[in-house]
Amino acid sequence: EAFNANVTAAKALNAFIVETPEKALEAADAADKAKAAGDSLGALAGVPIGMKDLFCTQGVQTTAASHMLEGFVPTYESTVSGKLWAAGAGMLGKLNLDQFAMGSSNETSYYGNVISPWRRAKTDGGRGDNAALAPGGSSGGSSSAIAARLCPAATGTDTGGSIRQPAAFTGISGIKPTYGRCSRWGIVAFASSLDQAGPMARTVRDNAILLEVMSGFDPKDSTSLDLPVPQWEANLSSDLKGKTVGIPKEYRPDGLNAEISALWDRGIEWLKDAGAQVVEVSLPHTKYALPTYYIIAPAEASSNLARYDGVRYGQRDLPDGAGLQDMYAATRAAGFGPEVKRRIMIGTYVLSAGFYDAYYTQAQKVRALIARDFELAFEKCDLLLTPTAPSASFALGEKQADPLAMYLNDVFTVPASLVGLPAMAIPGGLDSAGLPIGLQVIGKALDEQTVLNASLAIE
Ligand code: GLN
Repeated sequence: EAFNANVTAAKALNAFIVETPEKALEAADAADKAKAAGDSLGALAGVPIGMKDLFCTQGVQTTAASHMLEGFVPTYESTVSGKLWAAGAGMLGKLNLDQFAMGSSNETSYYGNVISPWRRAKTDGGRGDNAALAPGGSSGGSSSAIAARLCPAATGTDTGGSIRQPAAFTGISGIKPTYGRCSRWGIVAFASSLDQAGPMARTVRDNAILLEVMSGFDPKDSTSLDLPVPQWEANLSSDLKGKTVGIPKEYRPDGLNAEISALWDRGIEWLKDAGAQVVEVSLPHTKYALPTYYIIAPAEASSNLARYDGVRYGQRDLPDGAGLQDMYAATRAAGFGPEVKRRIMIGTYVLSAGFYDAYYTQAQKVRALIARDFELAFEKCDLLLTPTAPSASFALGEKQADPLAMYLNDVFTVPASLVGLPAMAIPGGLDSAGLPIGLQVIGKALDEQTVLNASLAIE
């Protein structure tokens, strides 16, 4: 009875779109057999992993949480998921997400919201104890499933914070590596110059092991980095002697949530205790990062999503007597949810002939200024410490009617995405309502090791 109650509670989180326990069992059996035979074991032998349903998995439906791709069964495996299986892991299922990875609360999924396993311990502004909370987004299925102990690890993707913000909301950790570390091949594209895969798990060490397996050059992705994969796990160390931590002052705006601000101060002390020096740095263009992101990401999305035309993938709506244009229109009207349509419209607008220079070109220029900010800051320090998100998790529905309020939740995560820097979310404790809040460590390009080490010092 207790077991059945647990199963019901787990299913109520709605973290999985498709469950594939037989694949996880197969990997576990293979690991047992290899062990009995004295064969060498892969780094993830027998480990059950949840796959964000943005990764194409051969023979298993891949939807990007959209109606558009309902019933799409890839004939190929994404590079990253293929590497996980080659290391002995087994797929537990495909995890729910915001539709096409667009969102910060997992409320844009065609398959319903995911619920966080957390509940407020105290009333918060009269909103009550028991409101269902957002697991963050877009990797909300991944964060919820790990936080609820349904799986020890999952994949995420991060375009503007989708690994880090859900990790912060659910008290787990996750790392977005340097852009190009993990191949984008076989991952449903959102904004190609920003999209990056990474692991989500409960510990820094687990993240290091997973990231090592997931990373590596792939000739099938033209932006893949042709560099050897470092031994991040073997070189984990929480000793930060000789390292300088930068505290970007623009990340502490007036009105920053007091509990997040206090956690940030504690984080500074933890890094000092680990031997680091701390300096204040300035990233003066920070306030432009969010508007820049919300021009560039929709622009690339509008282009990437043009492929869903009712001909090549998934859904087709063919009204009686319809011509080609009618078929496109009907398919896209029915296949995309409201947030995806909003992004396509913004993207099409900022790329249109009359507005391209005013929006898209301008955003690319500001993106270069933001990159320059980080370069100058990293002349004075080896890593940056900031909060991951400006608040703890919010109630489902709370921000749904106001897209701008939702976008504001990404304020601390989008800058590292725009510049392609490695960044990790690490839990920092609970706020006074009993909800997880977390810190973000941002590193220099290719310096995942320092990011992981500083996160280990915080863990
Ligand atoms: N919340 C951001 C957005 O909606 C980031 C999403 C992501 O990283 N995939 O675009």
